[in-house]
Amino acid sequence: MNIVFDYPAFDKLHEYFHTIERADVDRALFSTRPGLKDLAALLSPAAEECLPAMARRSAEITEQRFGRVIQLYAPLYLSSVCCNRCSYCGFSVDNQIERRVLSLDEAEAEAFILNERGFSHILLVSGEAPKVMGVDFFESLALRLKDKFASLSIEVQPLTTAEYARLFKAGITSVAVYQETYDRQIYEQVHLSGRKCDQQYRLATPARAASAGMREVGIGALLGLADWRAEGLALGLHLAWLRKQFWRTAFTVSFPRIRPAEGGFAALQPVSEKNLSQMIFALRIFDPDVGLLLSTREEPRYRDGMIGLGSTRYSAGSCTAPGGYLDPDSAGEQFAVGDHRSLDQVCSAIRARGFEPVRKDWDSMFQQHAA
Ligand code: SF4
Repeated sequence: MNIVFDYPAFDKLHEYFHTIERADVDRALFSTRPGLKDLAALLSPAAEECLPAMARRSAEITEQRFGRVIQLYAPLYLSSVCCNRCSYCGFSVDNQIERRVLSLDEAEAEAFILNERGFSHILLVSGEAPKVMGVDFFESLALRLKDKFASLSIEVQPLTTAEYARLFKAGITSVAVYQETYDRQIYEQVHLSGRKCDQQYRLATPARAASAGMREVGIGALLGLADWRAEGLALGLHLAWLRKQFWRTAFTVSFPRIRPAEGGFAALQPVSEKNLSQMIFALRIFDPDVGLLLSTREEPRYRDGMIGLGSTRYSAGSCTAPGGYLDPDSAGEQFAVGDHRSLDQVCSAIRARGFEPVRKDWDSMFQQHAA
């Protein structure tokens, strides 16, 4: 396939934000069909004083489209071996951490633990090392797990369209692949070696996954690398482009902020909780139907405070080291999580805010709210 997503350079996006005025923000807030100009207005410095109004609008839209529910999932780390040198990641090939690659039996045992804890939706995650863990492994694991889980997602190395189609046939229905940063210069600066240095190949990956028939595709930016307002706008542009090309596919957006990890990388442009909230509200108002993820990278206080305000999907009880559910002392995590609560504790916090945690039936919930 030869369809290519392109977007303006970040310095052009920076300039644009400074032309936005309060009147543009007001228009965007109450627009019935917000466009990319409205998204830019909502991400701009001029929108900061409207944050409470943005939160209310975002909450209203979220309840209309998704109901008073939060969907729950857990990541299952399969391998910490990676061929890439990403400055910000604990799995980067340079880091001297204890590496582990699960066998099929071990991965299945980890999955069953999550199943016993009540998860029906799991995200299979691995470092990018195709010779160590490739499509054959993901396919065999999916065939073993598909009858036990309502949905299986992957967040692994970018694959070809044919490989995604093969995994879809085996029972994987969703792919997450984050661009990390849409700022081309910073992308080059933080990706030091390995296949991931090819920005264009990564950028085209969501389209390959969607064209292979995946039901859902997740995109995202790692916050703390580049200007978050420009990342938000680039994400919106990418999302709108993907929707136009693949109208049958559901999309999600993630907002992972950089966390402490082996290697000691510090955020280049830190993103505050206030910035993150503005980004979530802006994306929700821009695209009422997109799934928005808030992971255990964030702390309990922030996650609890954000319930119902835009995000629709939370991870819970997460461990970022392979084998970490069977053996909680497993070393070699990708990054330190911020919310260490168990699934039951997260469920209680969600209920305490008047929302229902959903572990099993996302699909029927989607149908109910699409009706
Ligand atoms: S971010 Fe992904 S590709 Fe980069 S080092 Fe970490 S696991 Fe490997």
